[in-house]
Amino acid sequence: MADNAPAILWFRRDLRLGDHAALLTAAKSASRVLALYVLDDALLKPSGAPRVAFLHGCLRALDDQLSGRLLVVRGDPEKVLPELAKAIGARSVHVHADTAPYGRKRDRAVAAELDRHGVDWVETGSSYAITPGRITKPDGEPYRVFTPFFRAWLRHGWPSPAKTSASTVDWITPDGLPGVDLPADPDLGSMRLPEPGERAALATWERFREEGLAGYDARRDRPDLDGSSRLSPYLRWGCVHPRTLLADLGDEDEAFRAELAWREFHADVLWHRPETARRNYNSRFDGMQHETGAAARSVFETWCEGRTGYPVVDAGMRQLLAEGWMHNRVRMIVASFLVKDLHLPWWWGARHFMRHLVDGDLASNQLNWQWVAGSGTDAAPYFRIFNPITQGEKFDPSGEYVRRYVPELAGLSGKTVHQPWKAGLPDGYPAPVVDHAHERRVALERYGALSP
Ligand code: FAD
Repeated sequence: MADNAPAILWFRRDLRLGDHAALLTAAKSASRVLALYVLDDALLKPSGAPRVAFLHGCLRALDDQLSGRLLVVRGDPEKVLPELAKAIGARSVHVHADTAPYGRKRDRAVAAELDRHGVDWVETGSSYAITPGRITKPDGEPYRVFTPFFRAWLRHGWPSPAKTSASTVDWITPDGLPGVDLPADPDLGSMRLPEPGERAALATWERFREEGLAGYDARRDRPDLDGSSRLSPYLRWGCVHPRTLLADLGDEDEAFRAELAWREFHADVLWHRPETARRNYNSRFDGMQHETGAAARSVFETWCEGRTGYPVVDAGMRQLLAEGWMHNRVRMIVASFLVKDLHLPWWWGARHFMRHLVDGDLASNQLNWQWVAGSGTDAAPYFRIFNPITQGEKFDPSGEYVRRYVPELAGLSGKTVHQPWKAGLPDGYPAPVVDHAHERRVALERYGALSP
């Protein structure tokens, strides 16, 4: 039952008002609610410019939906929350659970501090259809392989979307409370980001449902066709909850449901094994021989800049710099190239991705990188080494994707774009930095040398 004491709703990775389970719980216990976001340097500093700019946009959109009543504070949540609770006489703080390593530690500390001040800490749901850690094998062990996890996840099921909106509670006008203006957006140069916020997320979903969902399974692997939903930045920041998407899917939409489940699987793995954000899930790969010297640094730069001389790799790396996003198939190709052709540590590539991706997410990023490197759960077998030429020819058959992002190759027609050296290299485009056939053998030797 609602009482007269106000509550705080602390927004984190749930920057929306619809299908907001924590808002629903707050409404049940309090009639007046303060909407809060805390700018926390511990999280902001390692975030790249695209993610910070997108976050700012989402906060502005949320503030608009709340008619200017979102309080933004900068500081350490452990201090900020008890002070604000005291200032407005709040008896509870409501959140969606954060299940990543930093968030879990921070939340334990904040909850303990609030408890000392007599304020309840209330977690309802998370950024996932099923909160990570909930699904285990019958013997209580976590799943290590996607397909059985997926089946258990489907069997477990999830609640229907929570019916919430801006009018679910009376929002407290934060006049007189110590808020800050959002800092200026970081300079993104010519990078173009998607429109931030819940309305844009729902519009993106609606467009994809109408135009893309039916053909998703056939088109999702084709970067030239742009056949995926582009919802990842919105899911990353919680501008839409996956439950909202799942509720709209029919039996025939299994391929899309499975992709959402991959996101949940990786979050579940990180929940059980937080150290895999930095280290190999499979410690057998700790013995892997990597290149790390000055030459390795220099070849790494060519990869970051999209100047490896392998067109589909370069197109992907340049898409990342231009849009803060890259197509999934191409993420796999460029990651495989870094690990298996350049023999560099996967975490170099993962760090570059986290700096530039607008959807950069610790669980999805680190564990997908490990999947490609072979050191993760359910990993691709190490001997399956992507050939960057045939991958390009198969998934970008007309060469359109490459021509879109690599202007030096715009004059080459059709498939020839994937082997530009055959026609004589166009001005300004580099020769391949390595010979794939040779590096493939080196990779196989190094993987083969790992102890079983
Ligand atoms: P769609 O194909 O429309 O899929 C719908 C949603 O399902 C996505 O928005 C995403 O939330 C989820 N999803 C799809 N594929 C995966 C997957 N393999 N793993 C986890 N979730 C998935 N995704 C991120 O959200 N953040 C990351 O930092 C990230 N880093 C990656 C790094 C590498 C090396 C690789 C291979 C993949 C990474 N992915 C990451 C997964 C995937 O590439 C993106 O989620 C996808 O490209 C986003 O585009 P979309 O929204 O159009 O996807």
